[in-house]
Amino acid sequence: MKVLVINCGSSSLKYQLINMENEEVLAQGLVERIGINGSILTQKISGKEKYVVEEKMVNHEDAIKHVLDALIDKEHGIIKDMSEIDAVGHRVVHGGEKYSQSVLVNDEVMNYLEECVKLAPLHNRPNIIGIEACKKLMANTPMAVVFDTAFHGTMPKEAYMYALPYEMYEKHGIRKYGFHGTSHKYVSNKVAEAMGKDIKDLKIITCHLGNGGSLTAVKNGKAIDTTMGFTPLDGIVMGTRSGSIDPAIVIYLIQELGYSVEEVNDILNKKSGILGVSGVSSDFRDIRSAAYEENNERAKLALDLYHYKVRCQIGAYAAAMGGVDVIVFTAGVGENAIETREGCVEGLEFLGIEIDKDKNKVRGELKEVSKDTSKVKIYVVPTNEELMIAEETVELLN
Ligand code: ADP
Repeated sequence: MKVLVINCGSSSLKYQLINMENEEVLAQGLVERIGINGSILTQKISGKEKYVVEEKMVNHEDAIKHVLDALIDKEHGIIKDMSEIDAVGHRVVHGGEKYSQSVLVNDEVMNYLEECVKLAPLHNRPNIIGIEACKKLMANTPMAVVFDTAFHGTMPKEAYMYALPYEMYEKHGIRKYGFHGTSHKYVSNKVAEAMGKDIKDLKIITCHLGNGGSLTAVKNGKAIDTTMGFTPLDGIVMGTRSGSIDPAIVIYLIQELGYSVEEVNDILNKKSGILGVSGVSSDFRDIRSAAYEENNERAKLALDLYHYKVRCQIGAYAAAMGGVDVIVFTAGVGENAIETREGCVEGLEFLGIEIDKDKNKVRGELKEVSKDTSKVKIYVVPTNEELMIAEETVELLN
């Protein structure tokens, strides 16, 4: 069975064609600048040269047409025709309160996705456009949507409610939803498998540290809390996002300092985080070299702040679960930034968390990195959201 996984952004689209018999990625690609001058499709297939298509792509339907053409291209493609694609799995960011699991696409689901647009306009709109485009081009192919929020649907009410007037929740759906759910689910299952344990017997803290970042407390296989909130702006410090701040700062910026709502939005989402603090970059590689090769004090501060927030959150989730058996690091930073992993667990020995600096010299592979004496295990687990989406799609079809 071959599943096409599609992740549509506002002007970009990522895709993978996966053979589910052996989980092999047959093709992966990226379309950028959809609807903007200079549209470009790049496709990689193992054993073949990179295939680049530079043609005007006016909208997502146009882009998906080009993706399908690239996949069936005689010279650069990997399948003979579209009928070889058995199903499509779409990543959708926000599933609101209704969907705590993946679903097959039908009219009811599409209507509900429309309702969710107001919760995540930047993400859900392009996701819907992508699904509509695929429906047109592949009318007979079954499709599933896999939500970023779904895994967090098991959070208890005290974890997802804000202490705001109750009608904010009832009338407007203002509550914590959480994001990166597909990744947290994937790595928590993977680590249980690697430890040879049943996930139902484990208390896991998953740290998805990428450009965006979030931690999730997974108790007995279920998410019971997560750091992102009503939006992906909440929680730990991120590349360019502030994470949690005193909400009154927003009021102060607007009322006292005269910033517009748009400017505040831009500051909190794009100019804050380790970029904002360091003034150097949002990329951990740049921050590290600025801090330790150039002795840049603000870069050092950005790293210290980042480590401190993650460390505090690990402590909080150990408390939320009444203990912790294993901590997982994943995503760009979590999988690759050796020193960041060390910084995030430094000083947590009192909880039985001891990282082994030799074992920890690892990038991008599944490995245990805790000391033999560590009561709490620490693992690096590469995430694979595309595979998870494809697996959920297959499960729904069965
Ligand atoms: P996104 O949230 O965009 O999916 P990723 O999970 O791909 O992000 O993570 C991207 C980030 O990972 C980069 O911005 C960079 O900070 C970090 N990163 C990638 N490789 C390394 C590395 N070798 N060392 C340290 N950080 C890295």
